[in-house]
Amino acid sequence: MSTLAVIEPATERVLAEVARAGVDETDAAVARAKAAFPGWRAVAPGDRAILLRRVATALEHESAALAVLEARNAGKPIGDARGEIAMVVETFNYYAGAPERLTGETIPVSGGVDMTFHEPLGVCALITPWNFPLAIASWKVAPALAAGNTVVLKPAELTPLTSLELERIALDAGIPEGVLNVVVGPGSVCGQRLVEHPDVAKVAFTGSTEVGARIAAAAAASIKRVTLELGGKSPNLIFADADLERAAGAAPAAVFGNAGQDCCARSRILVERSVHEEFLRLLEPVITAIRVGDPLDAETTMGPLISAEQRASVAAFVGDRAPVAIRGSTPEGPGYWYPPTVLSPVDPADRAAREEIFGPVACLIPFDSEHEAIRLANDTVYGLSGSIWTGDGGRALRVARALEAGVISINSNSSVRVTTPFGGFKQSGVGRELGPHALEHYSELKNVFYSTEGG
Ligand code: NAP
Ligand code: MG
Repeated sequence: MSTLAVIEPATERVLAEVARAGVDETDAAVARAKAAFPGWRAVAPGDRAILLRRVATALEHESAALAVLEARNAGKPIGDARGEIAMVVETFNYYAGAPERLTGETIPVSGGVDMTFHEPLGVCALITPWNFPLAIASWKVAPALAAGNTVVLKPAELTPLTSLELERIALDAGIPEGVLNVVVGPGSVCGQRLVEHPDVAKVAFTGSTEVGARIAAAAAASIKRVTLELGGKSPNLIFADADLERAAGAAPAAVFGNAGQDCCARSRILVERSVHEEFLRLLEPVITAIRVGDPLDAETTMGPLISAEQRASVAAFVGDRAPVAIRGSTPEGPGYWYPPTVLSPVDPADRAAREEIFGPVACLIPFDSEHEAIRLANDTVYGLSGSIWTGDGGRALRVARALEAGVISINSNSSVRVTTPFGGFKQSGVGRELGPHALEHYSELKNVFYSTEGG
């Protein structure tokens, strides 16, 4: 087996060398998961719950080290990494409550009793991106195992380290051998093999819309179940009647969080024209206060981008057409740094306003009416998230209902909670993660009719 050098984006140095899997190792992982499935689905629901809680406890126990590893490998501020690991623990605890609550129903019919069961699917292939490595892995692993499936997790090659730790921790916590398997290798080899493998029942993917489309097409050949969490170009709508100071105080984190490498990034800031200048003025000090630097320094609020390629791709959106209105600063020396940048005003037809930049670049777009705000917000192939800032409650709900997106917040930029559904409309994806609804995507509904005739 060849090896893979994992790079630390803040230093550009090698952080770890790990074994790199190919097709044979991927097939072996699927075979282990397939062999483990009958045993895992037969584990009593209460015992499956106990095992998942043990994983949560073990993760919590190691959370400080996991946060440092995630911060270094993904280049995210240590405070953010700690928050993500806490969410991973919460996700396992939450889905530990599921095995005993996956109840079916009885349906009134004549001549017998009709009942439904939520059956596990079998082997689930879970393919994850590099921006929130362990958090996104947990959103898939925890509900999949809770519902009685076994899994093969393929993390992004750039950030495999915490997923490998999860495999070790789960095994130590008592999850039986073969139930959770991690395969580290290129998406084009291991990921593709998982999608085509005849023994994989379902693929859950988070990543780009481009790769998601390829996965959906390949999965169609064997009618595999597919859920997709894809790209976004989410709007942040600022109406003139909003608390502008609060809105401006919150907007930078909503687009520059995780250095903008966030599928939920509110990267199109739509501002009512009458307050456009004032909003920019309020935004400036918040953005220049962003501290870009060493992810392990507690004062840092923004780390580097994940790679030199990502930085080049982000930079290509700037200096094109729209003027740079605000720009932060970055450290000197090694590290894939890019400053927080606001373009304003941006023509909604510009590439920067239409494509997912996936870096710390925000586009400010003025609008003149509620109608125009909704039209601009929906004028995208994506539909993941969105925010509405207004002091008018009727408008808030009117606009929330009109937006073509899966996750909306009002006078807030929050998107993700363990207990509530997360996912996209349109080309942002298919299916929902988190909350109770995720379980529907890791089980198959079976109907059983039992005749009571005779006697
Ligand atoms: P990506 O290039 O689509 O990769 C995602 C994963 O798919 C990686 O593990 C990758 O492996 C693998 N992969 C690549 N080609 C594949 C193939 N042909 N078959 C199967 N798997 C394949 O995305 P990324 O660059 O890591 O992440 C950025 C994108 O993810 C952005 O567009 C962002 O919006 C999206 N995202 C969406 C959400 C959401 O919940 N909606 C959350 C986070 C990110 P390797 O990288 O190891 O080759
Ligand atoms: Mg990629």
